[in-house]
Amino acid sequence: FTSIYEAFVQHASQDPERVLFHLEDGSTRSYGDTLSTARRIASQLAADGVLRGDRVAVQVEKSPEAVALYLATLQLGAVFLPLNTAYTGSEIDYFVGDAEPRVFVCSPGAADDHAHRASEALTLETLSADGAGSLLDAAEERTETATVGPDDLASILYTSGTTGRSKGAMLTHGNLASNCAALLDEWRYTSADRLIHALPIFHIHGLFVAANMTLVAGASMDFLTKFDAEKILNRFEHATVLMGVPTFYTRLLANERLTAEACSSMRLFVSGSAPLLASDHEAFAERTGHAILERYGMTETGMNASNPYSGDRKPGTVGLPLPGVELRVTDRETGQTLPDGEVGLLEVRGPNVFAGYWRMPEKTAAEFREDGFFITGDMARIDSSGYVSIVGRDKDLIISGGFNVYPKEIEVLLDACDGVLESAVVGVPHPDFGETVVAVLVPQPGQELDGEAIVASISGDLARFKQPRAVRVVDALPRNVMGKVQKAQLRATYAELFT
Ligand code: ATP
Ligand code: MG
Repeated sequence: FTSIYEAFVQHASQDPERVLFHLEDGSTRSYGDTLSTARRIASQLAADGVLRGDRVAVQVEKSPEAVALYLATLQLGAVFLPLNTAYTGSEIDYFVGDAEPRVFVCSPGAADDHAHRASEALTLETLSADGAGSLLDAAEERTETATVGPDDLASILYTSGTTGRSKGAMLTHGNLASNCAALLDEWRYTSADRLIHALPIFHIHGLFVAANMTLVAGASMDFLTKFDAEKILNRFEHATVLMGVPTFYTRLLANERLTAEACSSMRLFVSGSAPLLASDHEAFAERTGHAILERYGMTETGMNASNPYSGDRKPGTVGLPLPGVELRVTDRETGQTLPDGEVGLLEVRGPNVFAGYWRMPEKTAAEFREDGFFITGDMARIDSSGYVSIVGRDKDLIISGGFNVYPKEIEVLLDACDGVLESAVVGVPHPDFGETVVAVLVPQPGQELDGEAIVASISGDLARFKQPRAVRVVDALPRNVMGKVQKAQLRATYAELFT
């Protein structure tokens, strides 16, 4: 297949009764229903003046109609631009100003707040969590479908903003289709699958991995509005696959209902978007008999690497490059490719790699090598059998007295200490060393932590320049809405400890 939309339409035409959504209230929506809804939405968008290449910005609750809106946008050859539902006023100002959408779809409850955005150039539409709103005003179904090529834009997806301001990644139809095909094959995902979908659909994981795979395979999904361990466990009986972020697994492990028996119909558990704790991987395998399959990707590239479906799923690694994807590790100073086992910048090339950052030509040029490799901004190592381990972000690397300190090496030791739930290690300015190491610890519920004693207990395993020179115990680490630890915020908080 060459387009997600066409693959979906094929299922909807051949077998319209086939179930696509299993909803929380027990009702279902078929492929045929979804195609009709998408075609009505396409009529409305076309009446609003949406043409090929126009951006359709969307900040709505998760619903089957929101997926139909995505499909309608593709039908028109327009560019889907989903926004995190947590973004507020000035953040939306930035995205709308940057992307200049033709239509902005918001929740009915937010329509007054956004009324001022409406103009001759921008039409405001509404869509609620239960599928009501002006977006569905059109009665007729538009059947005309724009012909698109693999290099045409399908979406602008903003990065999560973990390391700085979100950037708009331009993704083409070819990017989406090639990555989806690689994942379907790699994870043996077919029409027989029933996915538990509890991720947001404004992000690559929930939209371009989970939803695209389901739409193209002709599979179905239990469409849950958000993560809830009980609700997810209730679905295990009928489902086959769960795709989650690492915290899904931490929280499932905290639930007594998670047993091997409860998972008897499940065939695959996938984790990604952030590093999965190796200890969670092991605990999950012990409790359920399933080795969680960890994979690695980013907004700009879709998925790059995955542990194998059949074969060794190595905890603490993100597996092997996906078919068609090339990965290499380079020296952060010289740009030279490094031998196996050495840590450097992870670079990627393949049909999955995006067309550049929206309206940021200099930034785009700076992140690509001359031979077409994209510099991911992650530091990694590739072992002799090709398995990739993500060591952390280039921006989080600490350089203390001229030596590189990889925070993860220290975090792994801290996490293993009694009473520590999780940890974050960051670099802060230091008058002698340039930067030095600060450890931030979160205790397990109900535990008191002696930070100094914990740091002392791991010091024997660390060279002196890696040993934390300050430690803080906090209730929780700062995270963005995707659950990622915001180290920039920690660096700012502790910036003046030594100055
Ligand atoms: P921004 O680019 O705006 O700072 P972000 O990089 O968090 O935000 P995303 O594109 O959502 O935005 O996330 C991609 C990043 O998530 C990767 O570059 C990597 O750092 C991290 N990541 C994804 N999967 C994994 C994984 N399995 N293990 C470790 N890190 C992962
Ligand atoms: Mg990023």
